[in-house]
Amino acid sequence: MLKPYCLIVALLVSSMLIAAPQLHSNNSDKQSESAQQSHLHGTAQLTLALEGNALEISFESPAANIVGFEHKATDEKQIKVVKQAKQKLQAADLFSFSGSDCSLKKTEIDMSSVIEEGHQHNDREGHSEISANYRYECSTGEKLETVSVNLMSRFPAVKTLEVRWLTYRQQGATKLKAQSHLIRIR
Ligand SMILES: [Zn+2]
Repeated sequence: MLKPYCLIVALLVSSMLIAAPQLHSNNSDKQSESAQQSHLHGTAQLTLALEGNALEISFESPAANIVGFEHKATDEKQIKVVKQAKQKLQAADLFSFSGSDCSLKKTEIDMSSVIEEGHQHNDREGHSEISANYRYECSTGEKLETVSVNLMSRFPAVKTLEVRWLTYRQQGATKLKAQSHLIRIR
């Protein structure tokens, strides 16, 4: 079975060519030539790749959208904010599905940009990102119709979610706002 990760890479590369000019054409202040996604406060990225019954969802956001700052947490209050945000990102009901039952098998949350891990102090200036990876196993992947995203109600600072998705059948890109949280993939 193909690793869904391969699909995500393929999707990112292909959809950047297709979707990037439309998504970013009016953001002339932030033009990145690298493969990095643009870091725009208020905006976050979600990528979905369905391969057979395996659904891989990747979420990437400026840390400011998730915890309200982009430096390492320095006091108890900030550390608490980071821990609470991590719990919210690990919530099982962050995504819900129609057409097929999908159950969460694995979650990986990377908040290393805003929390000290170990005892190294390598504070970097500037912006930082938080990422989360979810692996779902669906009962009948080919029947999966919609993915409902409950991220923006949990993290109101995310105003726009740029979504790219890929199934064996087709691929697409869409933008979600707080009032439009449904991704239709078939
Ligand atoms: Zn930033």
